[in-house]
Amino acid sequence: AVRGRLSENGPQIWSANLPLVGADSHKYRRGHLVIFSGEASKTGAARLSAIAGLKTGAGLVTVASPENAMVANAAQLTAVMLRKVDSEAELSDWLENAKLSAFVLGPGFGIGSHARDFVLALKDRPLVLDADGITSFRDDPAILFDAFADGETHLVLTPHEGEFGRLFPDIAADETLSKPEKALKAARRAHAAIVYKGADTVIASPDGRVAINTNGPPWLATAGSGDVLAGMIGAFLAQGLPTFEAAAAGVYLHGQAAGLAGPYMTAEDLAGLAGQAMADITARF
Ligand code: AMP
Ligand code: MG
Repeated sequence: AVRGRLSENGPQIWSANLPLVGADSHKYRRGHLVIFSGEASKTGAARLSAIAGLKTGAGLVTVASPENAMVANAAQLTAVMLRKVDSEAELSDWLENAKLSAFVLGPGFGIGSHARDFVLALKDRPLVLDADGITSFRDDPAILFDAFADGETHLVLTPHEGEFGRLFPDIAADETLSKPEKALKAARRAHAAIVYKGADTVIASPDGRVAINTNGPPWLATAGSGDVLAGMIGAFLAQGLPTFEAAAAGVYLHGQAAGLAGPYMTAEDLAGLAGQAMADITARF
């Protein structure tokens, strides 16, 4: 049996960690978030994450882009910075020479060894791994789990049901476990905070905390919605929140922004309303 401490996801979990904007705010202290873009034909997902990250309060956001996607990204980004990163060598060089706070890899990135190499280069860093980034480890998930096993938990995994089944097939198939129990078991195995998405998103931490989120409206089921969530969580990591708090805050903010956007929203609307949702939330503390 899996024992954990189950709660409803709400501001009590993370409000004390939330960075408020004040007179002493400085963009370099609000964190530098990096989002990895996919190839030329798959760049939209990274931009959705990047806009959401900026509006969630990250001080700086850079989209790291393959050369063939630079033009598409440059044409549609303004406050978000852009940097060419094609190879693992280029990534490692950048990591050594710049102060980068947190990373999002997966939305639109492409599945395969290129994604695995980038993730392994990021193994000591705060990372949100989503979508293709998760699926890239389906053949040998232990490579991912072992890489992030050292030190404090600094990985957040954001699988929907299909992605969860790829990383944790035995846990997904275990009919004796509830969704919170599955998420907790996965968190302990992966040494990661798990955001097990769906109509009822569950957030779990290896330390035994589990939260169920209830503020997400059904119209979150739209293309790109998960990419926006990854950017929100990445922005909280960049601002210094620990993984469980960052994940829980991101999921809650996502639901609040969707509430503001209303039915028939698009993921662009959702990302665009993250700032207003942040203002509403932070005004409560
Ligand atoms: P993805 O599948 O990666 O695009 O992510 C979809 C996002 O929408 C996740 O944050 C889900 O939790 C959320 N979502 C999907 N369907 C529903 C639903 N019926 N009610 C509430 N949230 C949902
Ligand atoms: Mg997704």
